[in-house]
Amino acid sequence: MEKTSQLYEGKAKKVFATTDPDLCIVSYKDDATAFNGLKKGTILGKGVINNRVTNHLMKLLENNGIPTHFVEEISDRETIVKKVSIIPIEVIVRNIAAGSLSKRLALEEGTKLGKTVIEYCYKNDDLGDPMINEYHILAMDFATEQELKQIADYSLRINKFLSEYLQDLKIELVDFKLEFGKTSDGTIVLADEISPDTCRFWDTVSGEKLDKDRFRRDLGGVEDAYQEIMKRLLGE
Ligand code: UDP
Repeated sequence: MEKTSQLYEGKAKKVFATTDPDLCIVSYKDDATAFNGLKKGTILGKGVINNRVTNHLMKLLENNGIPTHFVEEISDRETIVKKVSIIPIEVIVRNIAAGSLSKRLALEEGTKLGKTVIEYCYKNDDLGDPMINEYHILAMDFATEQELKQIADYSLRINKFLSEYLQDLKIELVDFKLEFGKTSDGTIVLADEISPDTCRFWDTVSGEKLDKDRFRRDLGGVEDAYQEIMKRLLGE
């Protein structure tokens, strides 16, 4: 199995077709963007860390009954994944108020939510990924009712598993973003990444931010924070 043509280049990853029509190769970059591409930069070593952290978590999730696109890590930055058509919604799962939710509802960052919140955004850079609800998703045919139910169910199970797993590593899972895809036979699988780029991770003791907010908010120590996450999860 070999790389053939580049299918897509996103903000943080490239995706290549391969000689196997059912498989792709993703390649993680060190490029960082925030605020819908307005802020640009580089986080040295991020590609390697996000590749390894994502694969580590996807393997754990697979072993806990969540189907994922993960197939095999082939290098520090590159992974073979199942070819899927991405469902054009971002699923945001929140345990603690932060970021855009804090702004929208004037909730102080760090406020524990009484119940886990799921939000959906339409993946569309030109529109700035607007928030949508279940009705929009069905009306726009982004997913069927059954698929959406499956996606929400997986998202809550992923949240429960990851929150408990990270708690043992003294990491609070504040919120995160998931994307799902459909394989050629119509199976819904977890796709994209789960990394400090897509999750808010707070140290449970010090409250220190160990995620992309250090880049978004110019807090410094971005590389160290990503390294710390890799160290706690993978022991290195
Ligand atoms: N998130 C993401 N990609 C996006 C938007 C959000 O990975 O395009 C993640 C973000 O890292 C955070 C969670 O989703 O963990 C909730 O983000 P929020 O809506 O608060 O937006 P932000 O403050 O990141 O703009």
